[in-house]
Amino acid sequence: MKVLVLNCGSSSLKFRIYQMDREELLAGGLVERIGFDDARMIYRPVGRESLEKTLPVKDHEKAIDLVLKTLIHPDTGILGNILEIEAVGHRVVHGGEEFTGSVAINEAVLERIKACVKFAPLHNPPNIKGIQASFWLIPFARQVAVFDTAFHQTMGPEAFIYGLPYEWYKVHRIRRYGFHGTSHQFVAHKAAEILEKPFKSLKIITCHLGNGSSITAVRHGESVDTTMGFTPLEGLVMGTRCGDIDPAIPLHRMEEDQLTPSQMDALLNKKSGLAGITGGDNDLRTIEEKAAKGSERHQLALEVFTRRIKKYIGAYAAVMGGIDALVFTAGIGENSDTVRRMVCEGLEFLGIEMNETANRNHKTRISDGKTSVLVIPTNEELAIAEEVIEVLERENQLVK
Ligand code: AMP
Repeated sequence: MKVLVLNCGSSSLKFRIYQMDREELLAGGLVERIGFDDARMIYRPVGRESLEKTLPVKDHEKAIDLVLKTLIHPDTGILGNILEIEAVGHRVVHGGEEFTGSVAINEAVLERIKACVKFAPLHNPPNIKGIQASFWLIPFARQVAVFDTAFHQTMGPEAFIYGLPYEWYKVHRIRRYGFHGTSHQFVAHKAAEILEKPFKSLKIITCHLGNGSSITAVRHGESVDTTMGFTPLEGLVMGTRCGDIDPAIPLHRMEEDQLTPSQMDALLNKKSGLAGITGGDNDLRTIEEKAAKGSERHQLALEVFTRRIKKYIGAYAAVMGGIDALVFTAGIGENSDTVRRMVCEGLEFLGIEMNETANRNHKTRISDGKTSVLVIPTNEELAIAEEVIEVLERENQLVK
């Protein structure tokens, strides 16, 4: 079965198409600057030459149409016919408390996804546009929604309730939701496979460290706590997001500088984190380079970043009553041996004894201690395609 995976951002569309019988990637790419006359499409068919085009793309529907036309084009295409696409998996950022897993989309489900827009006003609307365009352009395919929040719906209230007026939860559903769920679930599963142990027998801490970063405690196959909260702003220090801070700080600055909520929102989301500390650099490669050349602020950014990660590893080992495996994934987690070394330093009391050579060589297993430390590449698109297959198989079972 061929599954198209769509990830629609506010002005971008990332796509991949898989032949899922063999879990084989056929092509992928992206359209960026949607809404502009100089939008750009990058198309990468596996085993063939990539294609780049600059052209006007009015909206997400036009972007999906462009991708479909490219996929069936006699020169560039990898499909003989658009009907070969049997299912489409849509990444949806926020599923609120409505969605505890992936679902096949119908009109009623789409209405429920729309009801979650209030939780992610920037992210869910483009996801919904992608779904609507896909229903219109690929009506013969099954459409499945896969939520960033769903994996964390197993958290108990002791993990998701904030120390705020309880009515805020009851009336406004203000609580910890957590994000990056597809990635945490994917790498936790892979960790169990690598360790050849049942997923449900393990205590795993997954560190998704990219431009956005989060950590999850996965006990016996379920997320029991995670660092991101009501929004993806909480938790770790990230590329441009502040992560955990004293909530009185923004109130103080808003009053002193007469800032509006949206100005403060931009400061916390776009001007803080590593970029805030270094004075503009949020790319970890640059930060490592400048720290190595003696920049104290860049060195400080690295230390603040890794200390926060270490604190959460300790916290989650305590919450789970131990740890069998620590997993590093995403851009930084997969590539930065420096970050992994700094995080693991001093964690010997948790059974973490880093093998320096294995770490430098980016091996899968990088600890000699009783706790496994694993470097596992995440693949959110493949995880979404796998979810699509699972949802459709479940539905077929019900029909039988
Ligand atoms: P992601 O959001 O998962 O794409 O990750 C982006 C982050 O990964 C950026 O901060 C990059 O600097 C970082 N990154 C990618 N490659 C490397 C590398 N080889 N060494 C250190 N950091 C890297």
